[in-house]
This record gives sequence, C-alpha cells and structure tokens, in this order.
Amino acid sequence: MDASRQERSGVEVNVISFELDASDVELYEAARGLLLTAHHTENHRVAAAMRGESGAIYLGLHIGSKRLNVCAESSALANARMAQEPSIHSVVAVSMDGEGEPQVTNPCGLCRELLRTYGTETSVLIDAEGEVGKIRIKDLLPYPWMRAAETEWDTRPPRMEESVR
Ligand SMILES: [Zn+2]
Repeated sequence: MDASRQERSGVEVNVISFELDASDVELYEAARGLLLTAHHTENHRVAAAMRGESGAIYLGLHIGSKRLNVCAESSALANARMAQEPSIHSVVAVSMDGEGEPQVTNPCGLCRELLRTYGTETSVLIDAEGEVGKIRIKDLLPYPWMRAAETEWDTRPPRMEESVR
C-alpha cells in the first residue's frame, strides 16, 4: 500500500485491510438487497447486514421519523442476539447515493460504541474515502468512553514535562 492512501484515509495502514473476501461481498450484497427493497427517504434510509460467529447473516434497518432515528446496526445486532449468536464476526451498513445505488456507509459514533460493547474483534466494512476496506471495531474506536472506576488501570493526572516548564 502506498503512503498516499495512508495519508488520504487518515487510518494507519496496519489496521485497515483492502483485501476483501467472498464473505465480505456477500455481507454487502445482503445489506444492499434489503435497502433496495425497503428504502424510504425518511423512514428507512440505511440497511445493515451482520454476520454472527455461526456464519449466519442478520439484517437490520434504520427506522426513523422527523424527530427520531434508530440506526440499522442496532436492529441487526438485536436479530443476531435473539438468534443466540455469542459474538459478531462482521458488519456493514449501506445508504443510498444520489443515483439510488446503495453504498457502504461508516457507522456513526453511537454505533461504534454499541458494536464495541458486543466484541472488540468485530470487522467493520468502511468507506475509506471511496475505497471499501475492513477494520476491527477496536481500531475504529480505540479509546471508548468508560467511567474512571471501570478502567483496568490507574490514570495519572495530566502534567507538563519538566523540560517545558
Ligand atoms: Zn449509528
């Protein structure tokens, strides 16, 4: 991979892979198929497909009103958990481009936090500025929110280095 891609994507080369396999494409096709069927400009703007550890695919759909939106990833996750999936292997979300073609869409901040709660190794297909790549959720959200009492470490208070005082 060349340096320009690294610079463009803003993501370190060693955490994102652009070598997708058949299961990644199948996951995308599942989400694409759902969005083509269910898309609505307000009520259903995004579709998601999630692969559980069993290999099964679970679909999810954004639901929204004028004031409220619930991301597609959440219903995909609920479907996977209802089917007793112990963990999530991979996930992709798609939304419509200007020509009515579903494109890979990066998970929002809330979904990154949500997905990470259910496993740090989950692969997420992302739009890295025009090229679809694959990244683990722990690399997509490396420093998640947590209460001070929940960390496994003791955090030292911020302080200046001696040399710059
Ligand atoms: Zn979201």
